[in-house]
Amino acid sequence: MPLGEFELIQRYFAQVSEASSDASVALGVGDDCALLNLPEGQQLAVSIDTLVEGTHFLPDIQPEQLADRLMGSTVSDLAAMGARPAWLTLALTLPQTDADWLKRFSSQLGIRCQEYSIALIGGDTTRGPLALSAQVHGFVPQGKGLCRHGAKPGDIICVSGNLGDSRGGLEGLLNGFANETHAEYLLKRFYSPVPRIGLGQSLVGSASSCVDISDGLLSDLAHILKASGNLGARLQIEALPISSQLVDTYGEQQAQQWALTGGEDFELCFTLPPEHLALIPSLPTSVAVIGKVTEESELSLFLRGEACEIAGSGYDHFHQS
Ligand code: ADP
Ligand code: MG
Repeated sequence: MPLGEFELIQRYFAQVSEASSDASVALGVGDDCALLNLPEGQQLAVSIDTLVEGTHFLPDIQPEQLADRLMGSTVSDLAAMGARPAWLTLALTLPQTDADWLKRFSSQLGIRCQEYSIALIGGDTTRGPLALSAQVHGFVPQGKGLCRHGAKPGDIICVSGNLGDSRGGLEGLLNGFANETHAEYLLKRFYSPVPRIGLGQSLVGSASSCVDISDGLLSDLAHILKASGNLGARLQIEALPISSQLVDTYGEQQAQQWALTGGEDFELCFTLPPEHLALIPSLPTSVAVIGKVTEESELSLFLRGEACEIAGSGYDHFHQS
């Protein structure tokens, strides 16, 4: 007999909620609303993301991979704001109640909730084509959220981790890997993005702007530059952090192109006033300095000192915006 909505929530999500809740949750899953305590002096950072089968993921995705992707991409928005994760609501649209799928999805969701210290506090469950919406809520000290609009000419442009890996993983999924040596690494980078939660919070009070890289470095950096008053930037391509696995699999040029334009790495791109440069070695994630913010509103790329152009949607997008 198929599970009813109530049993489904009880069986698979109430437990995740209980295990992940802390004192900030006065009332979690089970009532008409959750009741929540916002700590004094903190602002609430809120963001929602939706994943739809066929648009954001392929039908053969594993439930664990889906939970990872959903959690990584949504919690990344909190990281980009410098917020500490607090609460999660989950809207699930399911074609059927598949007990095995629900068990695997909800346990992986629980694992990520623990890891990111975020409490599942409610949601909605309906029937229909597979789609998932996650709304995340986080705490950020009053007035200290890392916005897109604070960059100034002369600020240093930084990015965390490695860029382009996720695009490399997607390429392998869609067209097969030319060589399988690093397939596992690249697929993991695609399916399980790591939200840079600690880094985001470490940048509060120092970074002048921040964004997480969901559409590609050039495109997301363009958001910062535009929001900061139509500023520009000079980027050093050889300074881009790129994994040896990506270069080994696709070659240096392709890797650089994807580092600039490939989306869904969920690394942070932020600007630092030069006086805060000394902070970099103490940050919890490796960070590369890749360029500088300029007064004139152009984004220029340099490869070993020579000006260059790189074709690709991210760059085109910048010109259209
Ligand atoms: P209502 O009809 O009042 O909106 P629901 O029957 O949709 O309530 O949900 C009952 C309770 O279960 C609510 O507290 C809701 O937040 C929670 N809930 C529903 N679906 C989920 C889910 N997928 N994950 C977590 N909590 C859920
Ligand atoms: Mg409902």
